Amino acid sequence: MKRYTKLQVLISVVCITVLLLVGCSKANTTDSKETQSDSTSKIKVVTTLFPQYDFANQIGKDAVEVKMLLKPGVESHTYEPAPSDIIEINKADIFLYTGDEMEPWVAKILDSLDSDVMIVDLSKNITLDKVEDHDHEHEDEEHLHEEEEEHDEDHVHSYDPHIWTNPLNAKVMVEDITEALSEVDESNKENFENNAKEYMDSLDKLDQDIREVVKQAKRKEVVFGGRFAFHNFFEEYGLDYVSAYDSCSAETEPSAKVIATIIDKVNEDEIPVVFYEELANPKVAESIASATGAKTLLLHSCHNVSTDDYKNGSTYLSLMYQNLENLKEALN
Ligand SMILES: [Zn+2]
Repeated sequence: MKRYTKLQVLISVVCITVLLLVGCSKANTTDSKETQSDSTSKIKVVTTLFPQYDFANQIGKDAVEVKMLLKPGVESHTYEPAPSDIIEINKADIFLYTGDEMEPWVAKILDSLDSDVMIVDLSKNITLDKVEDHDHEHEDEEHLHEEEEEHDEDHVHSYDPHIWTNPLNAKVMVEDITEALSEVDESNKENFENNAKEYMDSLDKLDQDIREVVKQAKRKEVVFGGRFAFHNFFEEYGLDYVSAYDSCSAETEPSAKVIATIIDKVNEDEIPVVFYEELANPKVAESIASATGAKTLLLHSCHNVSTDDYKNGSTYLSLMYQNLENLKEALN
């Protein structure tokens, strides 16, 4: 779709010079550009994380060529853009990122991006939920309050940037992606809108299915032994959680005291499942499980997929439905 990248311009200039030297006209180079393979007529989309990679494919289908900067299987929180990634973004028609809270590095590279790349912040139409760090631990472990009160001033209010874990936010992201694709390729606007409508119906169905599971559930509380990215999801569906880690990108391991408190809770409330997150060693969840007899299950937060999931064609919807199956077990 995009007509001139810097490299193409450079090649054109070299070609034109060579052709002029041998007596040919500029028209020849234009002709050869028009007859290039089909992929050049597709909208080039570059995305940061998996959800928007999947959404762009669902909406754009054959009219788009979507590339995810994060390679499958790579943990997303330590990602820094390589120079080759900047080149990749500059070759794109559209660059989709999650938001400045999730990807603060984007703000730093904006200056090095070409002005003809459409840059879309997919959180722009979503109100981020404010989260108080450690909140979940404090709320639930009353006996820890006294000892930890001295740390209260350390509490920072931050936002949970994992907007996509709530399917209703995913719908807003899909709308923004549809708008961007339609702007770049107006001739396909109707197709994009039809695909988006169909896809958003599936997201509505997912939303309803989650509500049904929560409504039927015996309990409304979940224990998480991994890094936690589901605040937006749990808020939406009125579920409580206890998490061993402060946040999704926590670098410090939970203290023995925190783990002991969670073990007590699992025993007292007879919680059947301890969740762990994808693409990480589930050792904390496993130690809680082995101390309590609970089972460990995956709650996939979809930042990125494993290479196997990628090869098997996993989608946001397939991962979320697997989550729902696991959640059903955890809530009973
Ligand atoms: Zn995260």
